[in-house]
Amino acid sequence: MLSTEPRTSHSGQDYLDTNPLEQVQRSPNQSLLPLTATVNKQDRLEIGGCDLQTLVKQFGSPLYVLDEATLRTACRQYREAFNTYYQGTSQVIYASKAWSCLAIVSIVASEGLGFDVVSGGELHTTIKALEAMGWSTEQIAQQIYFHGNNKSHQELIFAIEIGCTIIVDNWLELETLVKLGNQTGTLSIPILLRLTPGIECHTHEYIRTGHLDSKFGFDPNQLDAVFTYVSQQPTLDCRGLHAHIGSQIFERQPHQDLGLVMVEWLKKAQNHGLVLQELNIGGGLGIRYVESDDPPSIEQWVKTVSESVMKACEIHQLPLPKLIAEPGRSLVGPACVTAYTIGSRKEIPQLRTYIAVDGGMSDNPRPITYQSRYRTVVANRMSEPCTETVTIAGKHCESGDILIKDAQLPQTQPGDILVVMATGAYNHSMASNYNRLPRPAAVLVQEGEANLIVQRETYEDLLRQDRLPQRLLS
Ligand SMILES: *Cc1c(COP(=O)(O)O)cnc(C)c1O
Repeated sequence: MLSTEPRTSHSGQDYLDTNPLEQVQRSPNQSLLPLTATVNKQDRLEIGGCDLQTLVKQFGSPLYVLDEATLRTACRQYREAFNTYYQGTSQVIYASKAWSCLAIVSIVASEGLGFDVVSGGELHTTIKALEAMGWSTEQIAQQIYFHGNNKSHQELIFAIEIGCTIIVDNWLELETLVKLGNQTGTLSIPILLRLTPGIECHTHEYIRTGHLDSKFGFDPNQLDAVFTYVSQQPTLDCRGLHAHIGSQIFERQPHQDLGLVMVEWLKKAQNHGLVLQELNIGGGLGIRYVESDDPPSIEQWVKTVSESVMKACEIHQLPLPKLIAEPGRSLVGPACVTAYTIGSRKEIPQLRTYIAVDGGMSDNPRPITYQSRYRTVVANRMSEPCTETVTIAGKHCESGDILIKDAQLPQTQPGDILVVMATGAYNHSMASNYNRLPRPAAVLVQEGEANLIVQRETYEDLLRQDRLPQRLLS
């Protein structure tokens, strides 16, 4: 073998789970490609039994491709793990800010999960999907928790009318709810109280402090005052407590500590005569974006939080609360890939080779916003060895519009289909029309069938909200 052999010569197939038995057990958040990913006889990537190149021909480019089996598997693993490890009742609610659209809401709901929404728009989307499934208002209300550190009056009235649980973030909101409750004649508004836990997570480390600089939630030092106030308000039906410590977390210790801290708060509430039945421990389990990412499985994470809460309840001699978790990224992130078409190429000798695709920061703002890293394969060259290192650039008028630095790729041609992995969370939901690019379509794939779930925007869509005052025309 020649010494000029490239150092990295893996192929796109290396990202597949080749052992089909192992796939059944695998936690989606530990996998780079969706669980159904395979390579077909034409050496092309298939997801959900659909050839990616064919999908792009049919639905256009760029294209979000969502694998139904992976999303459903993640939902089930959360539910089943809570049933296995937690001895009280539990509920898993999807943090729909990760990606909220009618089809995803309906899949997640059919797996028995509820919803965390953070705006009137997410609330509206969730209600519309559940109504379409034939749910009654009472059923819908039971499954929705409404978050946010600055909900408007309009949003609060919307939530009160539906009857969903409002996760109260601050004093103004508490007082506003009491007023709105009296105005609307609502007898008891179901609420949870959000607290700042003093546990802060950066991806690979965390800190515990008494005070925390966060815009979300009540300071735990005010707990006595909050409990006193709430216990005097007949309009408020305080059901429990909430805390969320961060996102893309790989350690288990922070959530273990959180369980203990939150049960101590429950004990404190009891001393105020408040019997709180719900404990919402937030979301935050990380997913694998690159090979070196090593998150715990869904099952391991659920085991940790369950055992922590059960142990603390035993110590404090409290009955087990209904334990709620609200994952977003780990449910939908690994289920989706984005397919782009490769276009221009720029080689700067001794420096860098750029390969440009037909999307970028408008359909995936995470790299430019958080310096997030991603992995990619060429869907129509899956077994070809990776022989070059290139930088994948978007098509936006920003030098920083880079999707992946130093990607290992086989030799590519314009027209090849580049697939970026693990793009289900915080991609479509954060997408913009920057440079007036119409937002891409999304398709749901399952056993060889592909269904449009978000239509591609058109140039007309871009003008839909524009108004041209008459006086500008004369
Ligand atoms: C974002 C968020 C979540 C979900 O976080 P993931 O990291 O996507 O699991 C859950 N709860 C709250 C309050 C959040 O802000």
